[in-house]
Amino acid sequence: MSDEATAGTEAETAGSDGHGPADKSPREANRDETTGRAEVSNFEIVDHWFTLAADRLEIPEDIRAVLSSSYREVQVQIPVSLTDGKTHVFSGYRVQHNGARGPYKGGIRFHPEVDLDEVRALASLMTWKTAIANVPYGGAKGGINCDPRELGRGEVEKIARSFMDKIEKVLGPTRDIPAPDVGTNAQTMAWFMDEYGKLHGHTPAIVTGKPIALEGSYGREAATGRGVVYLLEKAAKTAGVKLNGARVVVQGYGNVGSWTARLAAELGCKLVAVSDASGAIRNADGIDPERLHQQVSEGRDVPEYEDAEQISPDELLATDCDVLIPAALGGMIHETNADRVSCKLIVEGANSPTTPAADAILADKGVFVVPDVMANAGGVVVSYFEWVQNLQHFRWTEDEVNERLGNIMRVAYDTVVDRAEKDDVPMRVAAYSIGIERVLEAARLRGYLTDERVPSSG
Ligand code: NAD
Repeated sequence: MSDEATAGTEAETAGSDGHGPADKSPREANRDETTGRAEVSNFEIVDHWFTLAADRLEIPEDIRAVLSSSYREVQVQIPVSLTDGKTHVFSGYRVQHNGARGPYKGGIRFHPEVDLDEVRALASLMTWKTAIANVPYGGAKGGINCDPRELGRGEVEKIARSFMDKIEKVLGPTRDIPAPDVGTNAQTMAWFMDEYGKLHGHTPAIVTGKPIALEGSYGREAATGRGVVYLLEKAAKTAGVKLNGARVVVQGYGNVGSWTARLAAELGCKLVAVSDASGAIRNADGIDPERLHQQVSEGRDVPEYEDAEQISPDELLATDCDVLIPAALGGMIHETNADRVSCKLIVEGANSPTTPAADAILADKGVFVVPDVMANAGGVVVSYFEWVQNLQHFRWTEDEVNERLGNIMRVAYDTVVDRAEKDDVPMRVAAYSIGIERVLEAARLRGYLTDERVPSSG
């Protein structure tokens, strides 16, 4: 919305719903039962919650159409010659969903299942997330359908640099600022920054989640997991969970999962089951999260951990525990496995891990769920801090970062809980309502919407 268009780089937007032919929603990948994921797409999940909140807020259809469609969708071809001597063509995406509250902000995912539908959904989730956390950003997301686990480091670097070359025109420190997500990390951000710098000069604020040695922020790498744990502390009280000795199950042991497990261990929690893309393990006496992290950092998968039994991904979800942390992909808790979930509290580290049908089943079972759109905002909050530090060429200490992160996460949580009580709705609907109202208010103040029919957050 706030951005002047860069002609010629945008995907076709010819469809009657404002979206072009590249849309594969609902995407077939999620209909493949072997993935263990839901039979609804990520886009359907986000759209469901948006619609529920928009209905409650009585937002007129025409204004709803503005909020639910993307501002800009860029799809680029990334032909890269790999070590097998052949040229491989990947698809890269950057979707800018809404920029009313500030520059677009959101991660870039490297994963074989990435497609426009998923990126579009995650971009819209970022719009609501930045608004709920009350950081001055809009929402965006990006991705490339490559599998970094199957590629060498040099190959991933080539893909990352080629992608940046093709999308740099729609990015910028005051326009759109990428960050890490599944399959990308601080090293990927360093390549992005370097490639952008070749064209624009040294610009650290172009991406966040950079290495500390390249003006990254202290605390950024741990931020999403730390934010999850701050809210775990808050929610445990309501859900009747005593954290000292609480049994925790973590699905996905990458950045978010491993930091959550390690920081929860500092509160006395015991990791009793954990998984990654290659399998799952369980030990009722506890799995050492630090040792497991060390193992994963050395390139060995979770099931290779020695002091635990190997279990199936389904058994992982059914493991009796106090707290379940989904920290893998979207749609992992769905209609056909939600009734087997056996915990008191779920804090959603992943984006869209729970489908609407699963959410209803969990509610019936009395499971207290802290929704993704608030629970995993820690990453974007510290990304905001990193950007602020980069713009000032000044660095905060890790304690300062963590304290400020805690303040923002706790305020967001309390605001959402108050709203849920006031409106008598689940936390997820309350969170979306707050996000939508804040975006509408910004759009109205800028003059994008002059419509008196839209509700105000004041
Ligand atoms: P990551 O790539 O570091 O880790 C992902 C983990 O999930 C890996 O351990 C991978 O093996 C595992 N995984 C993949 N498929 C799986 C499957 N089918 N079953 C079990 N595990 C599986 O990614 P990340 O950055 O930790 O992101 C995890 C989730 O958190 C994603 O949904 C992401 O969008 C969300 N998230 C990340 C951040 C961030 O700052 N990194 C912020 C907000 C939300």
